Amino acid sequence: MTYEIEKTDEQWRAELTPAEYHVLREAGTERPFTGEYTDTKTTGIYRCRACQAELFRSDTKFDSHCGWPSFFDPKDSDAVELLEDRSLFMRRVEVRCKRCGSHLGHVFDDAPQTPTGQRYCINSISIDLVPAEQDAEVTERSSTA
Ligand SMILES: [Zn+2]
Repeated sequence: MTYEIEKTDEQWRAELTPAEYHVLREAGTERPFTGEYTDTKTTGIYRCRACQAELFRSDTKFDSHCGWPSFFDPKDSDAVELLEDRSLFMRRVEVRCKRCGSHLGHVFDDAPQTPTGQRYCINSISIDLVPAEQDAEVTERSSTA
């Protein structure tokens, strides 16, 4: 698997904090209800903390009460990649940033209250919120950029 952004472990370690590295590059999971975006309602775009690719929009974020920020749809269908994950004796679907391959979280089909029925359960530490203030237009245009 190759990604647009490829870095050595050494480079990632230099750029990320140890906690970020653990989740993004070692597929760790932050503890529930501890992430900074669990209950965030701010309008904006969530970017990949490792490569700044735009991944999710606040209008697809919903209250899942699972302890992690949850979205029902990625910003673009090709912003993330989905991989089967059989770790921890479970069969889950891992969500990674398509641009740099960093681990974001998992996706589950257990959100019937949303338009897609899906819950992208994402670690806060994997993403960065860019609040939309004056740049609503920029968001619209970025798909053609
Ligand atoms: Zn990324």
